[in-house]
Amino acid sequence: MLKIHIAIVGSGPSGFYAAEALLRSDLNVEVNMIEKLPTPFGLVRSGVAPDHPKLKQSILVYDRILKQDGMNFFGNVTVDEDISVEDLLKTHHGVIMACGAPLDNKLNIDGENLKGSHAATAFVGWYNGHPEYRDEKFDFKQKTAIVIGHGNVAADICRILSKPVSELKKSDIAEHALDALAESQIRKIHVVGRRGPVQAKFSPKELRELVDISNVTTEVDVNDCEIGEQCKVELSDPKNISSGKNLELFRSFSELQTSPELTPHSPRKIKFRFYLTSQKIHGAETVEGMSFFKNQLGGQAFSQTVISTGETEHISCGLVFRSIGYRGVPFKDIPFCDDQGKIPNKEGRVIKNGKAMPGVYVTGWQKRGPSGIIGTNRADSIETVDCLLADMAGVEKTPKSGSDGLTALLKKRQVQIVELDDWLKIDTSEIARGKKYGKPREKFTRVDEMLDVLSV
Ligand SMILES: Cc1cc2nc3c(=O)[nH]c(=O)nc-3n(C[C@H](O)[C@H](O)[C@H](O)COP(=O)(O)OP(=O)(O)OC[C@H]3O[C@@H](n4cnc5c(N)ncnc54)[C@H](O)[C@@H]3O)c2cc1C
Repeated sequence: MLKIHIAIVGSGPSGFYAAEALLRSDLNVEVNMIEKLPTPFGLVRSGVAPDHPKLKQSILVYDRILKQDGMNFFGNVTVDEDISVEDLLKTHHGVIMACGAPLDNKLNIDGENLKGSHAATAFVGWYNGHPEYRDEKFDFKQKTAIVIGHGNVAADICRILSKPVSELKKSDIAEHALDALAESQIRKIHVVGRRGPVQAKFSPKELRELVDISNVTTEVDVNDCEIGEQCKVELSDPKNISSGKNLELFRSFSELQTSPELTPHSPRKIKFRFYLTSQKIHGAETVEGMSFFKNQLGGQAFSQTVISTGETEHISCGLVFRSIGYRGVPFKDIPFCDDQGKIPNKEGRVIKNGKAMPGVYVTGWQKRGPSGIIGTNRADSIETVDCLLADMAGVEKTPKSGSDGLTALLKKRQVQIVELDDWLKIDTSEIARGKKYGKPREKFTRVDEMLDVLSV
């Protein structure tokens, strides 16, 4: 049987689940996975919080896929810099884009670019040792931080900001982050959302974890837990079971409420704030505070919107982290839906001028936007691969050079390809470095350091 050559761009969960589906198919298929970093696994390595090691276990599955016959890893290769989608289509029968949604949504308010105002991606990437965020600086001398957003990434940020470093030091958190967090003076974190406790997107498990952190108190204003009729209707929907659990938790926080003066040694406090829309970040050069419009909810259940009450509130703070969603990056030869931050597609077939683009597919966050958990990407990638397989009948009659052609092209362009064996060397070296600190691994946080491991 002649071979079909497929390129997958991106080595996060969606890329691996697409590879798995292709390798399980009846076709004689070669899969070439292209990744801009020398290291695979996308956000499972550089997004999932270090104190959630169980959630990183999907890496064991991806590791097996990487080692399967017919699978090749091309790390340290950036599409649109080292090679284009058009190049990939010349050497492959199909290309699956699986590049995620690495950019943060902006608040688009005055003061957003002041020193001390950060995107969640920068902080998360920094503590997880992502090379692109290695040199980020966070001023942990500040006493008060504001986290904008009521989702699980916001909860991760609060946990990492407030957990004693003794509870993080055995995780795979980057050592530079641990050192900086050990000196943190942060005592109070306001976690702010535009709507009410019923609309918060935390999973109850993540919310409960915040209560369980030693030496941290959680607070909610009692009045914010008084909910209106439309919210009660929303809660009565069995699909909203998590919101009901969240509300119970928020109510328990409001009962626990204590407000002693903060001292350098007093416990840290996480205060959940509702019905506030960001208005402005204040400060001359660095963040000094933030003002908000106060809201109430209006409209029917499930489509309630925020209505400004006309009042404003000011909160003094020295740090702001925004965690209000992610968006994808546009690629040269592929259409991009700017308002949704993703690639336009139908069931994974990329749509250009109303028609499916021959040979080009998309999966994961780049396909559906930043939603769902790691496992959600599996069904998503299977859908995409089903479309690809349906379109591939007979294409093998037009031979393509696949990995040979790709390697030749990249060598000609003097790109240092990090292959599977190279990644395994980096992996072994990181695990050995971790032993010194009693950690599962100490990640290399600069690409040069990773490539140095390969030169010995
Ligand atoms: C902070 C954070 C915490 C999370 N925590 C959890 C959790 O605890 N549990 C859970 O179930 N889910 C969690 N998620 C969600 C989960 O990480 C995503 O569902 C999943 O990673 C999406 O997979 P993906 O393959 O679409 O994208 P990604 O994982 O982002 O992978 C995309 C890959 O493409 C590569 N790439 C990008 N551009 C290029 C290019 N030009 N050329 C080559 N390669 C490129 C990137 O380097 C990356 O490796 C979290 C997400 C975030 C942001």
